[in-house]
Amino acid sequence: MKRRLCAALVVALGLFVSAPAVPAESAAGPGMAGDEALKLLKDGNARYAAGQSTHPNAGGERRAATAKNTPQPLAAILGCSDARVPLELVFDQGLGDIFAVRVAGNVAGPDELASVEYAVAQLDTPVLLVLGHTECGAVKAAAQNAKVQGSLPFLLNQIRPAVAKARAWSPTASGDELLDKAIKANVWLVMENIIRKSAEVRKRVQQGRLLLVGGVYDLHSGQVNWLGAHPDQGKILVSASKRPAAPKPRPAPAPVQGEAPARSDTVDQGSMIDLPPDAPAAASPAPAHQ
Ligand SMILES: [Zn+2]
Repeated sequence: MKRRLCAALVVALGLFVSAPAVPAESAAGPGMAGDEALKLLKDGNARYAAGQSTHPNAGGERRAATAKNTPQPLAAILGCSDARVPLELVFDQGLGDIFAVRVAGNVAGPDELASVEYAVAQLDTPVLLVLGHTECGAVKAAAQNAKVQGSLPFLLNQIRPAVAKARAWSPTASGDELLDKAIKANVWLVMENIIRKSAEVRKRVQQGRLLLVGGVYDLHSGQVNWLGAHPDQGKILVSASKRPAAPKPRPAPAPVQGEAPARSDTVDQGSMIDLPPDAPAAASPAPAHQ
């Protein structure tokens, strides 16, 4: 009997010692609520902006653990490529804590949308954050009607409706003021486009399994201006759910020799919701840090 007890203890201790040491500080666990995950992001950003980052989950043990088991990120974040800083630093998170999708202008084209859907459907991320940033070059190029070449016109066309919205909201705004409003309008527009185009995101938001929020990162202070949920999220959800599913992309015609292939997907025509730039956010968890 005594020998059997000793053997059981040895097995138990062995399991304990060999278990991967994954710090629980910021990694999302199964079933983590959206507001809980969002609070971790807000707390992390507050630490980063204050110069008090803790750099969690960044060591070899965490690397080994994430290589062995697919992590469940706290959040999928659709951010802009030229925001100068890795998202893990902005939110003081570590390996596997953030599912980062980055593209100039943080637009949600088919590839970005597919990446976001993978994160929420396969990795069960409880938060989806659309993150613009101050002084965004992509939004600025769209606002200034910059002459661009190659594939850039397609990208800027996705941002132009946000610039038009900002101009409609503030007809006298120009320069930096217009840019700031357009950056915010672009975040709202991308959030709306995601809801309209993704049945998976709609389903999870409606079920309360996914928190879709927006924010604007300040290049100078390091702080995120949290915008919360889309002010018209309820209306957009209802309106999008009534629409038939988005048509599948048509096959692209064969490119003419020497020309870039045409994109087969359609360009967003902009929001149907006439939303003022400073509209209060829809009901969302109380921000821990503003
Ligand atoms: Zn940018």
